[in-house]
Amino acid sequence: MRLSNIVTYEIIAQETPNVIRNCKNCKQSTEHYCSDKFRVNANQKIVDIWLIYKCIHCEGTWNYPILSRVHVNRIDPIQHQKFMNNDKETIWHHAFQMKKLRKLCDAVNRDISYVVRKESPESASNEVTIRICCKYDVGLRIDKLLAEILGISRSKVNAMAKAEIFLLPPAVTMKDKVSDELLITVRGNWVEK
Ligand SMILES: [Zn+2]
Repeated sequence: MRLSNIVTYEIIAQETPNVIRNCKNCKQSTEHYCSDKFRVNANQKIVDIWLIYKCIHCEGTWNYPILSRVHVNRIDPIQHQKFMNNDKETIWHHAFQMKKLRKLCDAVNRDISYVVRKESPESASNEVTIRICCKYDVGLRIDKLLAEILGISRSKVNAMAKAEIFLLPPAVTMKDKVSDELLITVRGNWVEK
């Protein structure tokens, strides 16, 4: 078996997604942004934790439930400290729980900004495997990302896909969203932008 050169691209989200839901003040469905702050409420030994979102029009708040009525002894002390300190990693972890947010809101606006960072030196080979490193669920389509990485149009990417230049894992198509550790092999003469 011949191993192809692996080039890793990391997709780095620059912001958390806004959610769309009813605002009590605006009396309609509006976009809310993550305030990057938890609200921790302890009553006796029972703890509630929310992540605070704010309406982009009126700053009205929505509390996104993270922990509901949990006994303090059942919360890992380090985790508890992270909630108290508004730890960014913890906030982002919850702000990207798309399934949970979709259930609680009308919709999640996934049109967030991101940067793509290449992690290995350029290689000269007629077969290269692109490795995607994507910590958060950014909802980016594979064909869109490939167009960006290769510096070509999306229609050209789709034409190359038809010509079977890209090798994707089984059951993954060009229209699917990128996932962490996704491997895409590019056959033939690969000209990078
Ligand atoms: Zn509002």
